[in-house]
Amino acid sequence: MSKGQEKHQKRANELMMLGKDLARRAHSRCELCSAMGVSLRAYEVLPVPPVPDIDKIVFICGVCYEQIENPKLMDTNHWHCLTSAVWSTTPAVQVVAVRVLKRLIDHESWAEDLYDQLYLEPDIQCWISNA
Ligand SMILES: [Zn+2]
Repeated sequence: MSKGQEKHQKRANELMMLGKDLARRAHSRCELCSAMGVSLRAYEVLPVPPVPDIDKIVFICGVCYEQIENPKLMDTNHWHCLTSAVWSTTPAVQVVAVRVLKRLIDHESWAEDLYDQLYLEPDIQCWISNA
């Protein structure tokens, strides 16, 4: 196995070890769209820390994951879920939700309205722009 693969594998194992705690925090639902009964994965929020940190991870479904990773695949209808996710008390969830929302504000009036209503703590605001 190459050095890079080894590193990747180590990270994947470390993330897997956080799975139980993430599932507990998320109540086994996607932390963005609340999907239940689907497989959830740990998604590390940028900027990624040297060691995986549960406070810098969101636990999300495949649909949310694919669309975050591939902005071209974004289906705006799916993202009405942000209406509640942007108010999450889990900072990492709030950060991801607002980042996705920002992609939509130029195209969707509901997204713009939601963004205008948002109140974000300064440290959250800072994290959102730090990617
Ligand atoms: Zn989801």
